Amino acid sequence: LAAENSPNDAREIIAGVVNATQEMSARQKDLEGRLVMASTEVADLRKEIEVTRQEAATDGLTGLANRKRFDVTLRDTAAEMMEIGDNMCLLMIDIDFFKKFNDNHGHQIGDQVLKLMAFTMNECIKGQDTAARYGGEEFCVILPHTDLKPATHLANVIRESVARKNIINKASGDKLGGITLSIGVAKYNFGEPLSELIKRADTALYAAKNQGRNRVLSESDIADKLVDAQK
Ligand code: GH3
Ligand code: MG
Ligand code: MG
Repeated sequence: LAAENSPNDAREIIAGVVNATQEMSARQKDLEGRLVMASTEVADLRKEIEVTRQEAATDGLTGLANRKRFDVTLRDTAAEMMEIGDNMCLLMIDIDFFKKFNDNHGHQIGDQVLKLMAFTMNECIKGQDTAARYGGEEFCVILPHTDLKPATHLANVIRESVARKNIINKASGDKLGGITLSIGVAKYNFGEPLSELIKRADTALYAAKNQGRNRVLSESDIADKLVDAQK
């Protein structure tokens, strides 16, 4: 506002500055609004990604960890237990004569039994343990901080808990009897390939099947078979 400017000139200049300031302020408000919208979108996307990630790691029928999450959790847990020098055990669980159950009562009721299995396993385990559907009618439980004896005890708790259930067809009220489980238990040897651990649990499971089913065997019960398998 130089001295030679008339009051009218000054008024015009001030009006111009006021106008420009108002425009700038409106633009800033608009940008702020868009920024808030963008961060809400990012938060929604993050939630969606988390839900999708969870779904990708979960078995659709039983809600247990699926094979993929089982593999990752077993690897991570083994590494952690080796680092701190604590035990880890693995249970391999297979429903006895499940094909016959499906043949007698239908696949859909068979599916309900798999859900009941998952529910019962979850009732028996603690927060640090991971129950997974390994495939079909086979399940696994990863037990960190657990030695062979308490792991075998827990396997028997699961086995007895499932055996106690009377399965009833809700629609017809028909009693469908019970189901039994065979379970193999193995303990992780630090540094061994995880496939070895799984193989020992599997060998114990199949020994349990051969000895008459509805029982738990651990790797210490089948030491002779494991020696044979190594030959
Ligand atoms: P075993 O005591 O030797 O384990 O006998 P089994 O009949 O349980 O074993 P087998 O491997 O011969 O058959 C497994 C059966 O599990 C066959 C299949 O119909 C059933 N099964 C596997 N996955 C599912 C599923 O998702 N739903 C239902 N309903 N049945 C399943
Ligand atoms: Mg099987
Ligand atoms: Mg079976």
